[in-house]
Amino acid sequence: MYQFEGKSVYQGIAIGPVKVLKPRSVTVTQEQIADVEAACARVEAAIGEAQQELDALYDKTVETVGEEEAAIFEVHQMMLEDEDYLEAIYTSIREEKMNAAYAVLQAGNTFSEMFAAIDDAYMQARAVDVKDISQRVIRILTGANTNALSTDEPVIIMADDLTPSETMQFEKEHLLAFVTVHGSANSHTAILARTMNLPALVGVSMDLSELTDGTLAIVDGKSGIVIYDPDEKQLEEARRELAKEQAKKELLLQLKGEKTQTKSGKKINLYANIGNVEDVSFVLENDAEGIGLFRSEFLYIGRDALPTEEEQYLAYRQVLEQMENKKVIIRTLDIGADKKADYLGLEEEENPALGYRAIRICLTQTDIFKTQLRALLRAAVHGNLSIMYPMIISVEEVEKIKAIVAEVAAELEAQSVAYRIPEQGIMIETPAAVMISVRLAELVDFFSVGTNDLTQYTLAIDRQNNRLDAFYEPHHEAVLRMIKMAADAAHAAGKWIGICGELGADMDLTEQFIEMGIDELSVAPPMILPLRATIRACE
Ligand code: PEP
Ligand code: MG
Repeated sequence: MYQFEGKSVYQGIAIGPVKVLKPRSVTVTQEQIADVEAACARVEAAIGEAQQELDALYDKTVETVGEEEAAIFEVHQMMLEDEDYLEAIYTSIREEKMNAAYAVLQAGNTFSEMFAAIDDAYMQARAVDVKDISQRVIRILTGANTNALSTDEPVIIMADDLTPSETMQFEKEHLLAFVTVHGSANSHTAILARTMNLPALVGVSMDLSELTDGTLAIVDGKSGIVIYDPDEKQLEEARRELAKEQAKKELLLQLKGEKTQTKSGKKINLYANIGNVEDVSFVLENDAEGIGLFRSEFLYIGRDALPTEEEQYLAYRQVLEQMENKKVIIRTLDIGADKKADYLGLEEEENPALGYRAIRICLTQTDIFKTQLRALLRAAVHGNLSIMYPMIISVEEVEKIKAIVAEVAAELEAQSVAYRIPEQGIMIETPAAVMISVRLAELVDFFSVGTNDLTQYTLAIDRQNNRLDAFYEPHHEAVLRMIKMAADAAHAAGKWIGICGELGADMDLTEQFIEMGIDELSVAPPMILPLRATIRACE
């Protein structure tokens, strides 16, 4: 039995087997081997496993995105059957007594260079693919990254750290909890854990190499403790807590369908935050009155290329239709900082949170922005859509956005494509936006306060850095005054204001937010019913 402590980013208890995720990067070195036939057999088995992974990826992509996008995995499967490629690997093993992983690495590099040298865009694109398939086989051979879950039994994920795209690749039904050595309470992985209603601990100093897959563990999101290999008494106590939690949840279910208003009758719009189309089921399950933040960037990460206009249109339309005319606020691409997409080729930066991200990318690479806007304006016909722009710092940015929206609308009009220009608002998540909120309020339909970034930029505390958690005071007066200032500016211009950052779910502040005149709160789906109960108890 080991007990570790960490910082809880989402409450709740989980009991179940552990799945340890190994570090991602693998270094392969050349070695001389004795048993060449055994090495060949290992390569053959690894290729078989890679084919199975590609099969699963193909099916998942067809289901979630479409057949056209999934086709790349079929190409990868064919490449893994290519005779020249296979012969290069087996020859290196048999004739040079090269170790299996190095033989695959070398074949991958040789073929990749060969494709890259061909004067044809299609063949050049295959250079990346051959490297990709080789990496997949090497990963299986070295066992360095078996981050795909191979079990159907739900598990507690234990990892060094998780990127948002890694978190996304897991199926919710296979997960019980997240426990990471690094990561901070405000990271996007933590936010995803909350959306999925999973207990999560970060900053847990455990030695992953000492943990074994399948061992039972208890994650207690209340006390921030994880017990690895618990004894019977500890298990019994955890089971009792779990049952209590379940009973509390059932009590809250009675609030489904009830109004979200204070005792004196002030109505608050209680919306949910989501990251992808599948999350809509959590929104409906928890009876949210709308979606206050759809982080559209999750459509862009964990893939090889930008999503097309059609793909985005279909995703937005699906969310709007499932929400049946309830409000859906889709935020335009907020990529950069911790949310990365390799294919965008963004440079490494000294200060990514202060860098080339979000609206700055959209206003520079306007083709990307226009594609998203086309998809949004087209989808707007199918429901109650609002668009929201992230990381705004100036009036000029809003004016530029408006000009681009007008351009996109004119193009759709000229092409006789059905569209609608919906309500448009901005995120208030920089001190600059707060300070000029009176001017910004005249230009937009609504404000939504992103307290995660607003706190980061106001307190000068990197939200990703868990060493700073001791300095992070979410109730800091400076942040609360900023929210009040933005609320006053919005109301003076006759506009509404909401909060979609994590602070919106902080029930110690609910009464204060209502006093400030906050009109809407958008929170992780599992927080909807507890927050409704809190609002209904407010005077
Ligand atoms: C925020 O900054 O508070 C916010 C809601 O946006 P994100 O967490 O996606 O940066
Ligand atoms: Mg933000």
